[in-house]
Amino acid sequence: MTDLTLYNFRFVVGSQDLYGEETLRQVEKNAREIVSSLNESGLLPWKIQLPTVAIDSNAILDAMQEANNDKSCAGVIVWMHTFSPAKMWIAGLKALRLPLLHLHTQFNKEIPVNEIDMDYMNLHQSAHGDREFGYICSRLRLARKVVTGHYTDIAVLEEIALWMRASIGSAFSRELKCERFGDNMRQVAVTEGDKVEAQIKLGWEVNYLPVGELVTAINSLTEEEVDELIREYELLYTIDTTDTDAVRYQARIELAMKKLFEERSASAFSTNFEDLYGMEQLPGLAVQRMMEQGYGFAGEGDWKTACLQAVMKRMEFGLVQGSSFMEDYTYHMADNGLVLGAHMLEVDPSIAEIDGEKTISVEPLGIGNRKPPARMKFVSRTGDAICVSLVDLGDRLRMICADVEVVEPVADMPNLPVAQVMWRPLPDLKTSSEAWIYAGGAHHTVLSLSLTAEHMREFASINGIEFVHINANTDINAFRDSLIAADAVWRNR
Ligand code: MN
Repeated sequence: MTDLTLYNFRFVVGSQDLYGEETLRQVEKNAREIVSSLNESGLLPWKIQLPTVAIDSNAILDAMQEANNDKSCAGVIVWMHTFSPAKMWIAGLKALRLPLLHLHTQFNKEIPVNEIDMDYMNLHQSAHGDREFGYICSRLRLARKVVTGHYTDIAVLEEIALWMRASIGSAFSRELKCERFGDNMRQVAVTEGDKVEAQIKLGWEVNYLPVGELVTAINSLTEEEVDELIREYELLYTIDTTDTDAVRYQARIELAMKKLFEERSASAFSTNFEDLYGMEQLPGLAVQRMMEQGYGFAGEGDWKTACLQAVMKRMEFGLVQGSSFMEDYTYHMADNGLVLGAHMLEVDPSIAEIDGEKTISVEPLGIGNRKPPARMKFVSRTGDAICVSLVDLGDRLRMICADVEVVEPVADMPNLPVAQVMWRPLPDLKTSSEAWIYAGGAHHTVLSLSLTAEHMREFASINGIEFVHINANTDINAFRDSLIAADAVWRNR
């Protein structure tokens, strides 16, 4: 899979030739200091390259085209130290194909009240230089992130980091390949979608892989290969079953899937319990293990959620990982309303309690008409989280993101044979669920304990996708009105 550590960002500083050599040298020196300060803050997950000071149209166009052609560059940060007439930026901005962050900062945090003179004023002009730049971005209808504040402020660094994560998610998205075993579950609507449009918008290459190839790969593994993986399971998990054959079969599925996906450079996949020809069990533990290792997954042929999970896992780079394929399963309508989320088997152990026990067991499954599958059970971490869904409205993709709080389950549920998560939707179950349903959100989501709605908003903005946010401030009638307004806007795009 793509090595995310190879990415970096570029920093282009706007100026012009009006000020003379000495001023431009000072601009360059200050810009270098800012980039060093950003890089040394320890708060940015990727490095920023040495800055380029651009003083005319050609230099700006060159800087943007170099960024486009640099495969390791995931985005461009722009700042106007001085005034930089924005007609000079038109060609460069029209050429730029990477995410853009407009950093509205200033070299000095405070005005040096005793020394300030007109030379100082002419050097430190971002207060109006960045307004000139902002106008041309708006005139060009450019999607971008604007961040205001001194470059040493923690809040500024955190916003840059957030945008970097969305940019890296977008870079990875352009290379994402998804393998599907089986088609969508029969008659299900929301897991469908226009794969061509998804590839145009997001870069996702979604391919079919016959389940027979998986069966062949499963059957061609040696017992020794399986033994080795079982030893890993024994180290990491509590094996709470005597049915070792069932666990070994899931280990075979995992090894076979990894082999097939590595051959195809795929990092997301889906299965369908209706299409298991030649398989002894529904993939359960195997899928959980694959998700734990960074693969995106969703059940029932749901390639959109599988790809979304793979992207979100990349956006979590360097954080404690915690994004799982999820399904709103059943409600606890008492206690102000909670959702119990799970799936048949495939809940991602990356959301488990840190150092919590993970148990492998084998239990019957009414769906799929196969032998009882091995699965991993665990208790999820608690804390602020988001549930994210991507739906195809026929004329566009819409991303729906709901803020939730993952809580301790109300009680042990000893008869429930799957990993599970309980959460409180914001502002409450009634408003959140009504808003979700009005927006057309799916029953499948990616639940993340590591990312926030703002990460997803930036990802949607970079990729030109509608973004809908359900949160603590959601008022259901205002929300309904906003969907009507959004429909008018997006339909005409
Ligand atoms: Mn499902």
